[in-house]
Order: sequence, then structure tokens, then C-alpha cells
Amino acid sequence: MHILILGAPGSGKGTQGKILAERLGLPKITTGDLLRTAMTGGTPLGLDAKKYYDEGKLVPDSIILGMIKDELARPEAKDGAILDGFPRTAAQAELVDRTLAERGQRLNHILLLDVTEEELLRRLRSRARVEGRTDDSPEAVATRLQVYQRDTAPLIAHYAQRGIVHRVPGTGTVDEIAGEIKRIIGR
Ligand code: ADP
Repeated sequence: MHILILGAPGSGKGTQGKILAERLGLPKITTGDLLRTAMTGGTPLGLDAKKYYDEGKLVPDSIILGMIKDELARPEAKDGAILDGFPRTAAQAELVDRTLAERGQRLNHILLLDVTEEELLRRLRSRARVEGRTDDSPEAVATRLQVYQRDTAPLIAHYAQRGIVHRVPGTGTVDEIAGEIKRIIGR
């Protein structure tokens, strides 16, 4: 079972993805975490990605596509995974669709975490104070929200045609939202 968690920055993808992955016993693949690890480790990929990341821009597909391919090919992800933070562009969606199709698999559910822009900004501001992520500056946050609307939100229509998109109200307690996700996917 492959489940994609989609939503704007600050919508709670990481939190809900973790709960879901643990409950279903599936690995969670998180491109943002992979990039942060690469940047901290100073790998060539991390160095290439950093300037885009820090400005809140998408890291180019030329860098990300190989990373996604490698992650999906890992033995742990053979029977399924929770995808957090990708696909984020049409080219990434195409790669995921194609890679899964080659294995006779597909994305089973897309969970769209729906949170108002006002609430997103409030959460990102308070997270910036706690975590101090390099892309939580006001400028980078504004860019990330714009990039989500421009490049990632259109994927909703792409997947909605297949009838696999579930809109999840992203405001409420963490437990309430997790409960709603459980109800939607039926396990
Ligand atoms: P958020 O959803 O809060 O922006 P993420 O950790 O998912 O947090 O992403 C942080 C940053 O990492 C993005 O702004 C982008 O620079 C980079 N990134 C993460 N995933 C991708 C991806 N699939 N494609 C391109 N860039 C990505």
C-alpha cells in the first residue's frame, strides 16, 4: 500500500505521516528529511540542494528524481510506503507513477491535509522559534507557500481524476486528525 500525504508547508504532513507509518508498519520516505541529512553531512547532493532549500524554492528535479528512484527501490519499500514531501512536481509524479506501475503497484490513497493559510503561517512562525530551520525565515516561508500553490497543488487534480484523493481537515488535535485518516483508509 502506497499512501501520499499532500499538503502545504505546515499542514502536518510529517506528524501524521509518522503516526500512519508506525500504525501500518510501513517505511516513511521524506524528501525534506533526506535533503536535511545530505546538507548536514555536506554531501555533494546536499551542497547542490542548499541554496534552493534555504530560499524556500523547490530543489530542481535534476537532483530530486534520482533520490526518489533510489528510495522507492529500497527493499523496505517493496510492499508499500508513506510518501511525505513528494511527488511535488508533475515530473516527480510521473516518475512515482511509472516506477510503481513497473512493479504492478500504484498509489492507493492521497491524503490532502487541508489547513487555512492563516493557520499555516501561525504554525510556521511558532515552529521557526522552536526548530530554527534555515527555510523558516519569513521570506522563505512566503516562497514555500507560493511554490506549493503553483507547482504542487495542481497534482491534486491529476490524482483526483483517479478518485483517490481524500481531503482531511487539518485543524483539530493530532489525535483527531489521525483518527480521521484511519477512518478514511479503513485501517
Ligand atoms: P515543508 O513542506 O514544510 O516545506 P519539507 O521538509 O517537505 O517541508 O520541504 C522543505 C524543503 O525541501 C522544500 O522547500 C524544498 O526546498 C525541499 N524539498 C523537499 N522535498 C522536495 C521535493 N520533492 N522536490 C523538491 N524540493 C523538495
